[in-house]
Amino acid sequence: LNYKQTKFFKSYSKIHHIEIQDGFEIAFIGYSNSGKSSSINSLTCQKKLARFSKTPGRTQLINFFEVVSDFRIVDLPGYGYAKAPILVREKWEKIVYNYLEKREQLKGLVLLMDIRYPLKKLDYKIIDIAIRNNISILVLLTKCDKIKVHQQKIQLQIVYKKLCSLLDNFQIELFSSTKKIGIKKLELKLNYWYNQ
Ligand code: GDP
Repeated sequence: LNYKQTKFFKSYSKIHHIEIQDGFEIAFIGYSNSGKSSSINSLTCQKKLARFSKTPGRTQLINFFEVVSDFRIVDLPGYGYAKAPILVREKWEKIVYNYLEKREQLKGLVLLMDIRYPLKKLDYKIIDIAIRNNISILVLLTKCDKIKVHQQKIQLQIVYKKLCSLLDNFQIELFSSTKKIGIKKLELKLNYWYNQ
């Protein structure tokens, strides 16, 4: 798969509006500011691709990107706007949980967590949904360039151990869009899911 050819496809506000039923998709999720857009841009070598998801009016939508005609990257709205009004949060929960629970085309989930602040409340919630729905997870500990290499290894071990007690089916990697760390591993995992 050539991720450089990925194109913005469409945004949706409700999952029953999604008309594409063929092929498979991989969803990206994480707190806002976790580095989700940067990871999609790094993967696809396109500086602006995930900006679609950040334009006003689109931040609460499910944004679809097409890698090839039968394989899509889905950018789920970022979570954790602490000050967001309750209605906005409820809307977010509805659309994201609905997608994760009902979308049969979903092959795997990339969960992004800032390496300095992993496993926050809503990360656990997403992990819980993944367990209940048997969704395979790739965890990326993002912005790993922000801490020293030995600290990265320690943090990786800590998060790995915590996840082992919860999940059977997961992989965890260090990731940095700035330093281009983990991009190949992300690509390989997506290829694996696609070919599975
Ligand atoms: P999103 O809200 O999850 O989509 O996060 P963004 O991709 O927009 O990134 C949020 C902020 O973190 C921006 O200021 C980015 O420049 C910064 N950032 C993203 N990835 C990295 C990284 O790998 N290393 C560092 N040091 N900063 C990053």
